[in-house]
Amino acid sequence: RVKEQGRNGFSFYSPEMNDYVLGRLEVEQQLRGALEHNEFCMHYQPIYCLNRKKVIGAEALIRWNNPSLGLVSPEQFIPVAEQTGLILPIGEWIIREVCEQGVRWRHSLDEDYRIALNVSPRQFRDGQIVPVLLRIFEETGFDPSCLEIEITEGLLVRNDDSTAQTLSQLKSLGISLSMDDFGTGYSSLSYLKQFPFDVIKIDRTFVRDLADDPGDQQLVTAALAMAKGMGLKVIAEGVENQFQMDFLASAGCDALQGYYLGRPVTAEEFQEKIIPPAEFRKMLEV
Ligand code: C2E
Ligand code: MG
Ligand code: MG
Ligand code: MG
Repeated sequence: RVKEQGRNGFSFYSPEMNDYVLGRLEVEQQLRGALEHNEFCMHYQPIYCLNRKKVIGAEALIRWNNPSLGLVSPEQFIPVAEQTGLILPIGEWIIREVCEQGVRWRHSLDEDYRIALNVSPRQFRDGQIVPVLLRIFEETGFDPSCLEIEITEGLLVRNDDSTAQTLSQLKSLGISLSMDDFGTGYSSLSYLKQFPFDVIKIDRTFVRDLADDPGDQQLVTAALAMAKGMGLKVIAEGVENQFQMDFLASAGCDALQGYYLGRPVTAEEFQEKIIPPAEFRKMLEV
């Protein structure tokens, strides 16, 4: 959209930008009280294993319901939380929630189930992520080998020693590392070589048009071949239909995530609808 031009031919303000700035400040203001007012909730989206034909875990995704802003997408508030540092207390809350939930599901999912947790770069940078995780594992009894930490290239761009060190510490605790939104950044390949990833998650922008974009088909096929060669598992994100599922299955993808397999739902719904009933019964006996 063409903006109104100022005297010098440039205009720094447009009504939308102003809205954006106001929106951001309001988001920040509301975000400050959100933990205290219990406005967050974790949703869980099933991850489906193509080989075993069953759900093998979930990705934990935060939801924020604010009385004045309504439901705010994490795409909108996570960056604000990052910039303000609020991601530190919020991130810690997320880890605790996920670990407590993981312990409750311990008996109803397979032994090797995984819960995937998104961690923001800022959570890594203050050197607190490892001690925070250790404390929460201790408090909750959660088994670190059931945790998969998803990180995006944003973390690796700075590429300092401390990042590499933290990642290998996480690995040595038994946590798996996955590269989220694979293929959307500039240097995914070189990061795969440098850091000890276990899993790549093919971004949903490559999955979306699989049915009619031969280029995307080639890309996904190549990414899968490469990942196999490197001994990595591949999860495809954003699977919304049978075509995508069939294509990814025959291309050798390990696991799928997307609305076709199941939307993100509350822990209660996940337990009722996603976890296989027989195993759910077993869990109730415990
Ligand atoms: P992400 O980690 O790549 O998460 C996947 C996103 O794709 C989620 O959006 C999920 O709801 C959405 N999705 C899943 N299947 C489909 C599908 O079939 N079609 C479409 N169109 N979308 C699908 P969501 O929950 O809005 O989260 C957006 C992003 O916000 C996440 O992207 C992640 O980067 C961030 N985020 C979410 N929860 C957390 C969290 O707890 N901590 C941190 N640090 N970031 C989070
Ligand atoms: Mg993710
Ligand atoms: Mg992703
Ligand atoms: Mg994403």
